Amino acid sequence: MARGKQKEQAREKAQKQAENRQGGKSQLGARAAGLQLKCPVCKTPVANYKIIVQHMEAKHPKEPIPPEKDFQ
Ligand SMILES: [Zn+2]
Repeated sequence: MARGKQKEQAREKAQKQAENRQGGKSQLGARAAGLQLKCPVCKTPVANYKIIVQHMEAKHPKEPIPPEKDFQ
C-alpha cells in the first residue's frame, strides 16, 4: 500500500537526519583517535591526564601516578 511505503520513507529520512546530527561515522573515528593516552598499568585508553589520575586512584591505588609530562 502507498501509505505503508510513505511511512517507510519517512522512517529512513528520520534515521538519516539522526545520523547527521551525530556527525556521521567519521566523527566517531575522530573521537576514538582522541583517546591517545593509556593507563600504564592496564592499558585502558583514556581521554586525558585528569582521567588517568582518577583511574589510577580508583583502580591502581598502590601504583605511583606518573607525572603529566610522561604522557606528552
Ligand atoms: Zn589501569
